Amino acid sequence: MNMPFVNELTTALDTDQIADLRSNVRGQVILPEDAEYESARLAWNLAVNQHPALIVIAADADDIAAALRFAALVDLDVTVQATGHGVARPATDCLLLITSELKGVQIDATARTAWVEAGVKWGAVLNAAQAVGLAPLLGSSPGVGAIGYTLGGGMGWLARKYGLAADSVLRFEVVLANGEKVSTSPTENADLFWALGGGGGAFAVVTGMEIKLYPVQTVYGGTLIYPAAAAREVLQFFREWSRYLPNEWTTSVAIMNLPPLPELPPFLSGQSVVMVNACYAGETRIGQMMAQAWMDWQAPLVNGFHEMPFSEVGTISNDPQDPMPGTSSGAWMNDLSDDAIETILRFALPAGGPPTLVKTEVRQAGGAMAITDTYERAYSHRQAPFVLQMVGVSPTPEAVEAVMSHARQFKAALGSHLTGGTYMNFLEGEEKYTSTRQSFEGDKAELLKGIKAKYDPLNRFNRALNLLPDSNGPFNKRPR
Ligand SMILES: Cc1cc2nc3c(=O)[nH]c(=O)nc-3n(C[C@H](O)[C@H](O)[C@H](O)COP(=O)(O)OP(=O)(O)OC[C@H]3O[C@@H](n4cnc5c(N)ncnc54)[C@H](O)[C@@H]3O)c2cc1C
Repeated sequence: MNMPFVNELTTALDTDQIADLRSNVRGQVILPEDAEYESARLAWNLAVNQHPALIVIAADADDIAAALRFAALVDLDVTVQATGHGVARPATDCLLLITSELKGVQIDATARTAWVEAGVKWGAVLNAAQAVGLAPLLGSSPGVGAIGYTLGGGMGWLARKYGLAADSVLRFEVVLANGEKVSTSPTENADLFWALGGGGGAFAVVTGMEIKLYPVQTVYGGTLIYPAAAAREVLQFFREWSRYLPNEWTTSVAIMNLPPLPELPPFLSGQSVVMVNACYAGETRIGQMMAQAWMDWQAPLVNGFHEMPFSEVGTISNDPQDPMPGTSSGAWMNDLSDDAIETILRFALPAGGPPTLVKTEVRQAGGAMAITDTYERAYSHRQAPFVLQMVGVSPTPEAVEAVMSHARQFKAALGSHLTGGTYMNFLEGEEKYTSTRQSFEGDKAELLKGIKAKYDPLNRFNRALNLLPDSNGPFNKRPR
């Protein structure tokens, strides 16, 4: 239970200004003393504990503009939240701008595009697109926000075939920190469009995006489950199997320490297992032939590979849908050598006590993600062959620190098997913020700082990434 919170900033906010804001928005303006505050300040990730000075639940793009003009007037920082799956620094002492009510999705089946508003979760785009035989480039969970995911890059089960979600954006409509609405595309405000393509949510509030859709109705894949005792051999076999796969396959291997849950069968409840997750976006018969290598090598405990409508792609990872407290860390990998595998086994499997991590997943990268030119978008590290993600359940601040400490040791032990780069979508909390530089390669962080200085000169959106507007200043200080 959190203690009631008295926010000094809120008490300083002028009641007339708040009344003006309330009369200027169709959505809700919520202050700490309001009954709705305790539920409105929650993120999907229940480990996030944030106490905004005020909350605006926008009903439309005009509300977003009004909220940003208000923030400028009273000099408040702004944090944007669609679902709260990917919070960096919590929205404390600032304006929390919630976009979840902007739920519009429009499909143009002829042009194979979709218009997606700021509060839309991927599941809604998936359903609307599948109804006309098309597919968006969603990630493992249909519950994740489409725009937050895309701003970070967006690597899903079609990534090696069709690339990142960020590579399939045709246009972003945004509201700038000063409340001005602008359009961004390769021909309009192209620098901002470049930054939003994997550069994160620190530049403007995206009110909607136009994205490409792809003709995918059926895929082959799912999950193979092997016993933890075979983890070493499964990771080694995964490395060899995935090495020559065509881009129709997007794959991963995950060591899971499953919690004891009544809904799980006894052989999984409270057990450690290795899962091979995969999606083949091609002819099922061919996919089956290529997957047969696993069955010939060693029969899994469960063979969950099957043909499925793409609308069921969320069942491959089966991510939690209900809010939960979690901590995630990750890093790009140079290789999945035997030495890297030994380190993964050491840190991913429980060592005599309760496991620190629920999931340690190595996703295969490359394919269509890697053929796009490095400087086409802000998104970085396209050439790394694998990306590692570690996830722990963390209901208390101590548990968050325990997971992060374990993740830090894990990454240190992997040493040169890591590239040194991070994928911002797989980071959460303070690490997402402090790893800003590692999320971008070459001089991209400097380029992003310049773009931020142009579009958000007062660093209003300063909780998502550490990008100072002053390109000559120290990287870790605010400008005011
Ligand atoms: C269960 C789960 C599964 C996931 N699977 C994948 C996956 O398969 N592939 C992958 O790449 N990532 C994956 N992610 C990571 C996810 O893409 C990021 O956490 C993403 O930031 C979530 O976006 P959101 O809008 O849902 O979350 P939020 O926490 O609401 O937003 C995250 C950040 O995005 C920015 N943002 C959101 N909306 C806007 C907007 N309208 N304008 C400007 N900035 C905005 C803000 O900076 C905000 O802090 C997963 C995360 C979870 C928890």
